[in-house]
Amino acid sequence: MSILLDGKALSAEIKENLKVKVAEFEKNYGRKISLAVILVGENPASCVYVKNKIKAAEFVGIKSLSFSLPATATESEVEDLVKTLSVDNSVDGILVQLPLPKHLNEEKILSIIPAEKDVDGFTAENVGNTTLFKDGINSCTPAGIMYMLKSTGVSLSGKHAVIIGRSNIVGKPVALMLLRENCTVTICHSKTADLKAFAKQADILVVAIGKAKFVTADMVKDGAIVIDVGINRTENGLCGDVDFEGVKDKASFITPVPGGVGPMTIAMLMSNAYKCAYRREND
Ligand code: NAD
Repeated sequence: MSILLDGKALSAEIKENLKVKVAEFEKNYGRKISLAVILVGENPASCVYVKNKIKAAEFVGIKSLSFSLPATATESEVEDLVKTLSVDNSVDGILVQLPLPKHLNEEKILSIIPAEKDVDGFTAENVGNTTLFKDGINSCTPAGIMYMLKSTGVSLSGKHAVIIGRSNIVGKPVALMLLRENCTVTICHSKTADLKAFAKQADILVVAIGKAKFVTADMVKDGAIVIDVGINRTENGLCGDVDFEGVKDKASFITPVPGGVGPMTIAMLMSNAYKCAYRREND
């Protein structure tokens, strides 16, 4: 029987602690921390994520500035908004909710965000810092995964971590963070031959592919720590990339979906917003 890694409870603790730090910041610097959130279009999942991020900001005492642009917004309209916020001294963090509508150049728009306001940790400079094992602004989902792994109290050093998925926002950065913790890391993806053979070797299995219940019990080693990043909307509601019911009796620790990695991502975003503001006052 596995232990549930309760991201909801853990993120609540992180946000409570942040609330105190944010209040101290306000007292010390005589201003509120502010986070600009840009939403382009009305993708229903994105609207929910943005709403949850704004709610979390309110909870910890961070002022959110919400910018909603229509799905028809042009590249230059979005770029101009990001540029304006970039030079606005009262703005500590800028978040562009992804995915952007297809006609917009996501990479170009993200590259305009200055690294010191990049609360998502997606800019080349922040990704570079993660790669160099420097303490920069790490991207939120991988940072949340690492926080959860550390919360188990299990030593990560020397463990074989297998990551399924190689996206820029989850798979690649979490691989680097696990490497920094002295794990031996294997990255699998859609072209990996005999994925099951790799998955079965994992002491730590991180799954981020976006395929409902893809990882089944026969792919998991007894006692593995299983982190399910996937969020899949099915007719029976939300589920992860791991067949939770089948795998839970094999894993030592496992994250649920919902209530696992998702809330941790938001807590890490708040923590990054605080970090950006603190650094802007102190660096
Ligand atoms: P993505 O869609 O950018 O990339 C998917 C990755 O999975 C690719 O690297 C691909 O090679 C790999 N893949 C796809 N099918 C595969 C297969 N059959 N076998 C092996 N590898 C396969 O993914 P993403 O943006 O990292 O998102 C992955 C999932 O995680 C999605 O469900 C997404 O909604 C979810 N997600 C959750 C959070 C969170 O906060 N909980 C954050 C980001 C993403």
